[in-house]
This record gives sequence, C-alpha cells and structure tokens, in this order.
Amino acid sequence: MTEHTAAAHRARPDAAAEHVQVRPAAEGGKQATDASGRPLLQFASPRRSQPETHLADLTLEERKARVVELGQPAFRAVQLSNHYFERFTADPAEMTDLPASGRNALVEAMLPPLLTEVRRLRTDAGETIKFLWRLFDGALVESVLMRYPGRVTLCVSSQAGCGMNCPFCATGQAGLTRNLSAAEIVDQVIAANRAIAQGELGGLRQSGHNAPKVTNIVFMGMGEPLANYKRLITAIRRITAPAPEGLGVSARHLTVSSVGLVPAIRRLADEGMPLTFALSLHAPDDELRDELVPINDRWKVDEALDSAREYFEKTGRRVSIEYALIKDMNDHAWRADLLAEKLNARGRGWVHVNPIPLNPTPGSIWTASTPQATAEFIRRLDAAGIPTTLRDTRGKEIDGACGQLAAVAG
Ligand code: SAH
Repeated sequence: MTEHTAAAHRARPDAAAEHVQVRPAAEGGKQATDASGRPLLQFASPRRSQPETHLADLTLEERKARVVELGQPAFRAVQLSNHYFERFTADPAEMTDLPASGRNALVEAMLPPLLTEVRRLRTDAGETIKFLWRLFDGALVESVLMRYPGRVTLCVSSQAGCGMNCPFCATGQAGLTRNLSAAEIVDQVIAANRAIAQGELGGLRQSGHNAPKVTNIVFMGMGEPLANYKRLITAIRRITAPAPEGLGVSARHLTVSSVGLVPAIRRLADEGMPLTFALSLHAPDDELRDELVPINDRWKVDEALDSAREYFEKTGRRVSIEYALIKDMNDHAWRADLLAEKLNARGRGWVHVNPIPLNPTPGSIWTASTPQATAEFIRRLDAAGIPTTLRDTRGKEIDGACGQLAAVAG
C-alpha cells in the first residue's frame, strides 16, 4: 500500500458510507519534489531580469520627472499617459498632439513594448478569448478575456509560470520562470481593452468614451500573485487610479486569489483597498490539503482561514473560498460539512464558497466530481448557511479555464 492510498484510508470513518477517497498513484507524477519526496515550493524566480521601465511602472509624478530627464516638458507625461490609459495606444503615429520631432524617442523610452502577441484563441461564440503573450525575454504568459451579461472580466497573469506546485494545476507543473513587472501586468488589461475596441469580443464594438472595456479583473491567471507582492500592488494602484495616472477600474471589481501566503494576506488587508480576496482552499483538512496545495506545509488550513477572516474584518469585503471539486478526492459530504463548520466557527456573513468543477490538465487522471456529488456538496454548504455558487468556468475548449494556463507556444 503506498503512502497515498494509506492516507485515503485514514479518511473519516463515516466516509465509508459514501465514496472512498482515492488518490491515484499516477497523479502528480510530473510534480517536482525534493530529495525526501515532498513537493517543491519555489519562491525565488530563476530569472531575475525585468523588462525596461514602462510608464505603468511609475506614478504620474515619477513619469513627469522621467520625461524632464529626457529633455521634454513635464506635461508630456500626462499626454503619454492619456494615450496609454484612455486610448490604449503606444503607437507614436497616433499621438498627433506630440511634436513630431523627438516623439518616437519619447514614446520608445516611456512605452517600451512589453507584450508580443503569439496567439489568440476564441470560444463561446467569441465571448471568451485567450491571449498568449511573449515577453521581452521570451517568457510566455496568458490572459483570458470573458464577456458576461453586464460585465467584461479579464483573468490576468502575475508571474510567468508558478512556484506553488499544486498537482492538479497545469501552471504549477513547469515551475516558476519569473515575476512579471507591474507594467507587464497592467499591459494585459490595456491589450484586452484594445482588442475590445477593435470589435474582437463577441462583436462588442463602439469607440470613443462609451467603448466597452474590461470592468472586472481577477488575478487568477498564471502565477501566485502574493508571491510577487510589490509589483502586484503597484499594478493594482495603476489599474485603480483614475486617468491620467491609471485606468480607473474600481478596486471593488478586482479579485486577488492566493494559495494562502498568510503574512502576505495580512499585508494585503492593510493596504486600504477594497479588493476582493479569494483563498484557494480545496480541502478543509490538513491531511488532504497538504497534498493538494503544497504551501499547506507552511501555513495550515486554520491559519489560512484565520487570515481570510481577518481580511474580512479589516476591509469589510466578503472573502471567496475557491474549491476545485475533484472526484472522490475532496468532494465528500463530510468535507462539505467540515468546511461549513470551520467557516461558521469564524462568524457569519463573511465568506462565500466558489466550488469549481475540476478542469482537465495534461497527464492528469483526476476528473471533475459527478453532478450528484457537486450538487450535494453545494446543498450541504447552503444548508449550513454558507452562500455557495458554482463557478461558471470558461474557456475549457481552448485550455483557458482555471488551472489550464500552461503557455505553450505549440
Ligand atoms: N495561484 C493563485 C492564483 C491562481 S487562481 C491561486 O492558486 O489562488 C486559479 C484558481 O484555479 C485557483 O483557485 C486554483 O486552485 C484553481 N485551479 C487550479 N487548477 C485547477 C483545475 N485543474 N481545475 C479547476 N480549478 C483549478
């Protein structure tokens, strides 16, 4: 009996009445482990190089200082910022309010190209688009744009790859390449807005001030956002600052998702921004979460939940708990009950649960829970007074759904 099947049989006695927990021995086969067989956690990125500084890395004041250094009047920084944040352009040919002489050099210095499009895949009748971007050093990242009734959501990447090594997530399997710069994060939103303005998203097309734009941003693409903390916060400040400083998206429409880096969750709660925080929990018990979310080795379920509750207390923002439902792994009725118990023990009305049907990843033999197990899991949470909504996970057909972003040039 392998250690994994042994763990399965240590499941609660009442589990015997339901489906037993199985952990297929072949799963996680690609997961990098250390000498003792524990999943590797990678915090330091192998590549430290960052792209050239871009105006989105800087505050408006810093941009002005830079423009002056380049021998131009400070107000040029405002003009450039308007082009970038309001018109989504970095093309000097479109900046006719800037004098022709010196324009190219100024734009080159302030708006160096960050993302080169490699591929664009569409599904859901054009309402979901996955972008594959190549960065200046060849690293690849993806973002996913989704049109819903009344909102347009962009799922952005915060790192190239990911060091958190969750065995059910495709991004984790290749490890971490590097942190994205703040501007590389922001530029994904600008690029999406540009695509929308060009009529790319389900035929939405309207230019000028009424042009539809990205309204909601979720930091749920490649990477662990809280492992790239400083650049994440800079990117969020640019995304939320009104023009010409930034994009003017409401912080209430931004969601930061994390595997549970507890000290960083505490820091985020102190930033004074009404962001939504989402915790990728996936199991209410340490025994299973140790396997599904390797960071659990360092910060246990209870610590992660305590910090999520503190986040709610400090910000007043209801926290989301993400829970990928994996057949016979974490979808047992007793686990739904234990989850409800742990959440209710920390108060009422502070949290909601977002189960996600497991999306397939290459080489994985795990599958999504059955519709019956899914319905029962949700019913039990609801019955315990925990608001629960199954995530409408988009883009499965184009490997653009939760956990599928692997950024292969193919
Ligand atoms: N690293 C952060 C941000 C990624 S968000 C985090 O883990 O929270 C992506 C979400 O999709 C996370 O909740 C992640 O656990 C979940 N996910 C990963 N692989 C998945 C899969 N195969 N099916 C469904 N959800 C998955």
